[in-house]
Amino acid sequence: MPELPEVEVVRRGLETHVVGRRIGRVEVLHPRPVRRHLAGAEDFIALAGGRLVLGANRRGKYLWLPLDSGDAMLAHLGMSGQLLVQPAGSPDERHLRVRFALSDDTELRFVDQRMFGGVSLSPEGADLPPEIAHIARDPLDPMFDEDAFVARVRRRHSGIKRILLDQTVVSGVGNIYADEALWRARMHGDRLGTRLRPADVRRVLEAVRQVLAEALLEGGTSFDALYVDVNGQSGYFDRSLHAYGQEGRPCDRCGTAIRRVTFMNRSSFFCPRCQPRPRVLRADRASETGAGTSPV
Ligand SMILES: [Zn+2]
Repeated sequence: MPELPEVEVVRRGLETHVVGRRIGRVEVLHPRPVRRHLAGAEDFIALAGGRLVLGANRRGKYLWLPLDSGDAMLAHLGMSGQLLVQPAGSPDERHLRVRFALSDDTELRFVDQRMFGGVSLSPEGADLPPEIAHIARDPLDPMFDEDAFVARVRRRHSGIKRILLDQTVVSGVGNIYADEALWRARMHGDRLGTRLRPADVRRVLEAVRQVLAEALLEGGTSFDALYVDVNGQSGYFDRSLHAYGQEGRPCDRCGTAIRRVTFMNRSSFFCPRCQPRPRVLRADRASETGAGTSPV
């Protein structure tokens, strides 16, 4: 699944290869990827065709292209979506779903095998589509409000990992990046927001930023080609993981075996020595409901 750094790579590619071009003919080859455009595929085609693309923006893992009509084209890559820019007439990809002819003899193509992603037109959404206005900014966003983030985290009586995954507090931090950032910050994911000092929260935030920035660097190799690609395989996951997926392997800092516990139907990986479990956890957990971590 594309994570925030991969989506940012796509945004940059769109900025280079799509912004400033005019959309020509639009072809919807499968209805499912435009299902979120409730007025239907014909309406989508009518609103997108002929419009000039003014920008390439991102909020969390959503991308949007402001158009000269005041509308916005909204895109989400889902599990397997790709946005590709190809020369006009080059062979269709096997899972090509939507094709936008562009004014410089290229095509923007939405390719998606599993079709959890999609594109839609957001009327008058050029500044910020209302569909995604509830999503918080991510830590790479220049407008991210660090003080507000620290204050919000410290008001939450939830584990820090769960807070990091809450898109209304901070967007773009998936399970893998959360585990990596917490390992880097030497913090257990069950530490409660209400019990963290401001300096603790800032340390976690800094770790999140570092992890995202490094992933962005490693995922950024496709910038200069005429090929805007994301497939969730940025290479970051192979080379740079210290915690996620490392169960039983020695911690890169202290050599203790990395541990895995279940977390919200998924997994959390951490070093039990560098990231000690909070001692008050047992009492606090008794009053909590919902999924938690299983005993180690
Ligand atoms: Zn360790």
